[in-house]
Amino acid sequence: MPDGGYSDLSVRGIEELYRRGGARPSDVVGSCLDAIEAKDGIVGAFVEVFREEALARARELDGEDSRGRPLFGVPVAVKDNICTRLMPTSCGSRILRGYRPPYDATAVSRLRAAGAVIVGKTNMDEFAMGSSTEHSSSHPTRNPWDTDCAPGGSSGGSAAAVAAGMVPLALGSDTGGSIRQPASFCGVTGIKGTWGRVSRYGLVAFASSLDQIGPIAADVDGCARALRAIAGADGIDSTALADPCPALEGGGEAALDGMRIGVPSSIKGIDLDPSVSAALAAAVRHAAEAGSRVAEVDLPDLGLTIACYYVIAAAEASSNLARYDGVRFGMRVGSDTLGEMYARTRSAGFGEEVKRRILLGTFVLSSGYHDQYYGRACEVRERIRDCYRRLFGSIDLLILPTAPGPAFRLGERLDDPVAMYLSDIFTTPASVAGLPAVSIPAGLSADGLPVGLQLIAAGGREDLIVRGASALERAFAFRRRCVPGGSGGGGRS
Ligand code: GLN
Repeated sequence: MPDGGYSDLSVRGIEELYRRGGARPSDVVGSCLDAIEAKDGIVGAFVEVFREEALARARELDGEDSRGRPLFGVPVAVKDNICTRLMPTSCGSRILRGYRPPYDATAVSRLRAAGAVIVGKTNMDEFAMGSSTEHSSSHPTRNPWDTDCAPGGSSGGSAAAVAAGMVPLALGSDTGGSIRQPASFCGVTGIKGTWGRVSRYGLVAFASSLDQIGPIAADVDGCARALRAIAGADGIDSTALADPCPALEGGGEAALDGMRIGVPSSIKGIDLDPSVSAALAAAVRHAAEAGSRVAEVDLPDLGLTIACYYVIAAAEASSNLARYDGVRFGMRVGSDTLGEMYARTRSAGFGEEVKRRILLGTFVLSSGYHDQYYGRACEVRERIRDCYRRLFGSIDLLILPTAPGPAFRLGERLDDPVAMYLSDIFTTPASVAGLPAVSIPAGLSADGLPVGLQLIAAGGREDLIVRGASALERAFAFRRRCVPGGSGGGGRS
């Protein structure tokens, strides 16, 4: 076994290891569990670790045939808003503490069917509302690159677990950027598919018309393998896309040859960290050298897009969260009257950010304001969708930053919700338009923190983002940093 164990291998690395008989699933899963034990005291990526269950499952796999199971013996961490049968699923909320769903989410059952071993649940902003994982009722997660910084959010636990080399693969969820922004902050790769690409059955709803489950891994290949395993129609989610996921293959150096790539002209007015501008310029240069046709394009107003997102997401959240009433799920604060029991339970069970969203959402849906806010946001969303549909008639890929800068410090934006919301300026377009998008690590800031770049394609074209991202990944040759707080390694090689 290598010094650091097997926990920082990629998904492909694990497959190759098994193929040549170098280790068994129980060795790899055991190694990841040891890494979690050694590192998670500092990082805080996990809220639950299923040590015994994971080891027992891995030992079963030791004696089985891997054929036909593309994620055979791959340890996976799952964001805590994705249901795991009879295992805690609390969504980072007090109100669901101790809740054990009676079923697996479709994405989880597909992972299991593909041979993956679920090792635990990862920390997140409560009900996935946030961009820093600080709005968790358990504990904040730290960025493995600098433990004074946030890992991003809301899938910060999943991104930090992969970045710190505790697991090769994790599931996150993305409503307005929650896979891509933490991937960018933690120097790992994350994909949000076309809306409907992955079944939402068993994903605890935040904003149903935007929510998507997706993978976070150390590389594009790991994400593509996982997405392939979890994508596809599902009889218990009628909104899951019926058409099959396109083949997700890297395509080698030639992938960028002849691609039509758009770079938004509008980002010139946005304050970007110099490392983000440099990464974007480097990507454009590389794509052009590799034979892509790169042109500036006009995007629908980014400020309008993010405003539209926050109205629609809050409206849907206020409705989806009405189910936490102290009767059917999770915690209850008793009282003499039913109305007061609801009020007390919800007051004690929800955190500040969730309450803010419920208030906002209820306001934009209330009579007298509905047309002015929610109705208008829905109209704006249709127009934004049309604009992107037209745009992708003339380009194959859109390339833009994932976030304006690297990870911010823990606590820095907690008292300023608008500053926190603005971290999503580049991720909300793909969410509002329902398009597939990937974030790949693309460089380091002056302080040595990773920054990511995002590729977006037309609806249904995950193949294009995977091909483009694999080619750029090779060009950037970014290395993951695995030791939280340590001084060694990391960055571009
Ligand atoms: N940061 C965004 C929000 O708070 C996105 C969250 C998400 O994608 N789940 O709504």
